[in-house]
Amino acid sequence: MPKRIFNFAAGPCTLPLPALEKAAAEFVDYNAAGMSLIEMSHRGKHYEAVHNQALDLLREVLGVPDTHEILLLQGGATLQFGMVPLNLRAEGKTFEYVNSGAWAKKAISDGKKVGPTRVVWTDEANKFTRMPQAAELKPGADAAYLHITSNETIGGIEFAGFPDTGSVPLVADMSSDILSRTIAFERFGLIYAGAQKNLGPAGNAVVIVRKDVLAASREDLPAYLAYKSHVPDKSMYNTPAVFAIYMMKLNLEWVKSVGGLAEMDKRAGRRSDLVYQAIDGSGGWFRSPVDKASRSRMNVVFRLPSEELEEKFIAEAGKAEMSGLKGHRSVGGVRASMYNAMPVEGAERLAQFMADFKKRNA
Ligand SMILES: *Cc1c(COP(=O)(O)O)cnc(C)c1O
Repeated sequence: MPKRIFNFAAGPCTLPLPALEKAAAEFVDYNAAGMSLIEMSHRGKHYEAVHNQALDLLREVLGVPDTHEILLLQGGATLQFGMVPLNLRAEGKTFEYVNSGAWAKKAISDGKKVGPTRVVWTDEANKFTRMPQAAELKPGADAAYLHITSNETIGGIEFAGFPDTGSVPLVADMSSDILSRTIAFERFGLIYAGAQKNLGPAGNAVVIVRKDVLAASREDLPAYLAYKSHVPDKSMYNTPAVFAIYMMKLNLEWVKSVGGLAEMDKRAGRRSDLVYQAIDGSGGWFRSPVDKASRSRMNVVFRLPSEELEEKFIAEAGKAEMSGLKGHRSVGGVRASMYNAMPVEGAERLAQFMADFKKRNA
């Protein structure tokens, strides 16, 4: 068995061992072709099959209806911060954003460079410790779209329920919680996600766009930046991120084999419950800074009584084969990121370690 530790990193994330082993086994000689998949033409039969399977699996596992197109693009979620306003801008319309923290701010910053932009909700005064409730969000009549970040990976907060924005497209950055719960796609005009948290390795972004929103999107853009360019050739307008898409396919096969989206949802609940219980059961020694109703199931952030103890905690956890627990440099503290491939045993190990650590240091 290869050495595998529990990897709580915020992204790129841990991937399932069966997917990694399959990739290793067929890396040098793919399907008896005498060459690696990453050496082949992306227009050849081997890669074409992988590409189509990846798209089909995404649709099947996520439950994406025919009303929505799925695109595989490069540039990560970050390029979507710019592509969304570039493609959805319209005369007399304003881009609307929820400012829920670090990632939302980056999306807002790019929106402002493209056109009139309005922040309709912010919790900055409370240091981004909660998400808005669905009913708090009503788009304006002149809104081009309303943009939300379904899970703030750094702040550790997540939308519980999504707003109904009527005829205004709801746009969501779902980079860090896609494929962890059922999505009512009919509510969303456009969803995007960098793949490297819940879907696969880095190098690939998934965009799921409703066909009416796509039809109304702009064409007066450099070709790659226009969503429409990527439709006719099924996201092969240019050379796609062959290896990243192949790994995503292997990951999705694994997700499907262990029970699909329903099982991912269940595991996310179990893992995060274990760690939140360890926090709540510590009598305030471990402290969650976020509002209970907005607690993220993917990124659990918490504090210890002092920064010295936090450093010690992270170092000792490392020795106990749990890595990636350091909070983002902008906020400090501890962050346990538990994406789809994190076994429930990882969360059990962490919760047990928290209790032991408290006993030794309180
Ligand atoms: C990681 C992350 C991003 C950035 O993704 P890239 O693929 O690195 O561009 C954007 N939004 C959220 C919510 C993220 O977690």
